[in-house]
Amino acid sequence: MKLGIAASKGYAIGTVVIKEENELKIEERAVKDVESEKERFKKALQNSKEQLVKIKEKAEKEMGADKAAVFESHAMLLEDPEFAGAVEMGIENSKINAEKALQDVVDMYAGIFASMEDEYMRERGADVKDVGKRVLANLLGKISVDSDIMADNTVVVAHDLTPSDTAQLDKSKVIAFLTNIGGRTSHSAIMARTLEIPAVVGLQDITSSVKNGDTIIVDGIEGSVVINPDEETIKAYEAKKEGFEREREELKKLISVKTVTKAGKRIEVAGNIGKPEDVHSVLANGGDGIGLFRTEFLYMDRNDAPTEEEQYEAYKYVLEKMEGRPVVIRTLDIGGDKTLPYLPLPEEMNPFLGYRAIRLCLDRKELFKIQLRALLRASVYGNLRVMFPMISGLEEFLQAKEVVEECKAELKAEGKDVSENIQWGIMVEIPAAAVCADELAKYVDFFSIGTNDLIQYTLAADRMSEKVSYLYNPMHPAVLRLIKMTIEGAHKEGKWCGMCGEMAGDEKAIATLVEYGLDEFSMSASSILKAKQLIMQN
Ligand code: PEP
Ligand code: MG
Repeated sequence: MKLGIAASKGYAIGTVVIKEENELKIEERAVKDVESEKERFKKALQNSKEQLVKIKEKAEKEMGADKAAVFESHAMLLEDPEFAGAVEMGIENSKINAEKALQDVVDMYAGIFASMEDEYMRERGADVKDVGKRVLANLLGKISVDSDIMADNTVVVAHDLTPSDTAQLDKSKVIAFLTNIGGRTSHSAIMARTLEIPAVVGLQDITSSVKNGDTIIVDGIEGSVVINPDEETIKAYEAKKEGFEREREELKKLISVKTVTKAGKRIEVAGNIGKPEDVHSVLANGGDGIGLFRTEFLYMDRNDAPTEEEQYEAYKYVLEKMEGRPVVIRTLDIGGDKTLPYLPLPEEMNPFLGYRAIRLCLDRKELFKIQLRALLRASVYGNLRVMFPMISGLEEFLQAKEVVEECKAELKAEGKDVSENIQWGIMVEIPAAAVCADELAKYVDFFSIGTNDLIQYTLAADRMSEKVSYLYNPMHPAVLRLIKMTIEGAHKEGKWCGMCGEMAGDEKAIATLVEYGLDEFSMSASSILKAKQLIMQN
């Protein structure tokens, strides 16, 4: 048994598929049998082509023909006899292994593209590298994370998963995932809870402890795994899995129950979402609203930023589906562990303390305005509340509101409707904001406490690091004091205070948060019913 950090609850018994490392290691080797090395290359090429056909079909269905075209151009490169010929020539002439010969050709092609005048052609260099990586992964026997090529009951094992890797996981095949690094509040862990699949992170060396095809038990409650278990162990975990699923079923009786504390206070229990379609699991789990829509996920897995129209459609969809229930949408929070391929960020020593969230939006006003216009236009379709992430002081909130006013004026001039009832709030996730909550509460409509960041900044313990996860303690008295101050600050000015960090769904924290007077709890959909039950007991 190996122990890591429990990141998403549940049990899974499945087959290991190791995700390729972002940087595949290539070692040059001299080869004697040139012919069989060429065969090995041809086989990897063939496998890559077959994978690309499947991926293209899936992308066409899910994202449309234009987005799928990139896979077509990848396949074309693999069909190009000059490309394959150059690799085979490399193997033959230099008597080196296929991996090294492939890499030399990929580097040469990428170099040619990089030196071209035309920007479009320069960007093709990235395609060559991408497709080269696929062939290399096949040569090395490492499968990429594309779930198209995975069997049922796959447990993905990776050094790390980016939020966009996690977003791409196909729940019908991937039943759990495991990583070497990461903490409970890294975004891939949060996504696992949204997907409702068990996950264990911070396992340190899981990628080197298993092989593709191993059977593995994942215990997302204890944060442990058992590699190639015996029959008896499998039976024991099957029983645990059944018990867990039975409890989930029983909690379903709370779906339409209104959550009221023992003292008679009505509490809103809402869901956190990353994609518009996630509203369905929030509703299915009895959520009273959306307490956090992480809009940055709309910006991921694409080659350009979503347009105003695309965003408007996404926000309208969520507002309409929630039928008048409150929907808190957070403006773009990119940076930290969330990056975008088309928005290069500066290399920083401490990206979580750097150019991120509202800081970036106020600096890139043109990008910010597209989102604000889409939000304002969608506001007429429901009960919209907008909040800004990473606010450290009043000035940032006022500046953001100024941009909002600018957008409103533009829309009015264009004859477009905007709701008069939008609430404007901030995330309290920087200790400075918590300490000044009484002052900030005079200007905002609400607070939502982002404990994922608040804890890491208060305790100086990186939320992504398994090495310091023992320090990352939501119940630390300093964290609790800041939370209490924030709630009291809001209430003093007659404003409401919610929490959308993972602590809101933490079974050990709920009683304390009820005692402090928290008005709204927002969490992964899968935690809502249990939280309702616990709130009602307090
Ligand atoms: C938080 O910091 O608690 C939060 C909800 O935001 P994110 O996890 O997206 O940083
Ligand atoms: Mg945050």
